[in-house]
Amino acid sequence: LAIKLDGKKLSQKIAGQLQQRVTKLKARGVSPKLAVILIGDDPASQIYVRNKRRMAKKIGIETSDLRLPVATSEEKLLQIIAELNNDVTVHGILVQLPLPPQINEETIIQAIDPLKDVDGFHPFNMGKLFMGAPYAIPCTPNGIMQLLAEYRIPLAGKKVVIVGRSNIVGRPLAALMINHNATVTVAHSYTKNLFELTRRADILVAAVGKAELFSQTAIKSGAVVIDVGINRNAAGKLVGDIDQIKVADIASYLTPVPGGVGPMTIAMLMKQTVDFAERSVK
Ligand code: NAD
Repeated sequence: LAIKLDGKKLSQKIAGQLQQRVTKLKARGVSPKLAVILIGDDPASQIYVRNKRRMAKKIGIETSDLRLPVATSEEKLLQIIAELNNDVTVHGILVQLPLPPQINEETIIQAIDPLKDVDGFHPFNMGKLFMGAPYAIPCTPNGIMQLLAEYRIPLAGKKVVIVGRSNIVGRPLAALMINHNATVTVAHSYTKNLFELTRRADILVAAVGKAELFSQTAIKSGAVVIDVGINRNAAGKLVGDIDQIKVADIASYLTPVPGGVGPMTIAMLMKQTVDFAERSVK
């Protein structure tokens, strides 16, 4: 049976380490602060923001939550971001996506100071990442890398197949894997013979958003399997992109859903905030 890549456990360990770093920062007069902007009342976004606030509180990171009405204009949001960029007490800025249609996502991402860009979505940070010299790293891919490192899973020379090419998961993860000397293939909705490809992977990352798309016929025996997906199945149960029960029989390592990649994403957001706060005093 596959060994569980326990993101919940590792995220708690990281929280403990961050707590100590925050204590040291506070002794030097710096209180790490994360500003979170949430526009509208998307239920999933509200849950994410609440989880982020909870973990920040546990670690001792200050948060300032700005809840804005769904009709907020782009100009108004740009003005708020400009104020946060100039506020020396704020170390990280996060604008919760998705945004309502009157606000252009790219414009907003580019307006955030790259040095306060905790999500790592700004073109400066994406560019640095792809050049092999990251400054800020998107949280979900970063969390996956930390999880693999914790369990000492080697990456150099391994065949990694990433399914999904979004800017928040697949693409930045491909860059990180290349930076760690893996041989990377990125599959997506136009990929032909998907399972033939995934069956060759030493490490498979599923970031598609389709409930239990990958079952045992899609997986090589002994593969490491990372399940990023968060979906509801027909019965309304929270499931990943991997058929967890069947794949656990043949994979060597597997991330559960929930309790795998999800908690690592939030832990990396906290780590990025603390990193920024430390850099601000150096
Ligand atoms: P997205 O919709 O932006 O991207 C999905 C990708 O899957 C696209 O690149 C698309 O080309 C590809 N795809 C779609 N159908 C496919 C198919 N049949 N075969 C192969 N490729 C296909 O999604 P995203 O934001 O990258 O998120 C993906 C999933 O991961 C979602 O379920 C999301 O909820 C979850 N997610 C989880 C976390 C976490 O912290 N655990 C973070 C981000 C996203």
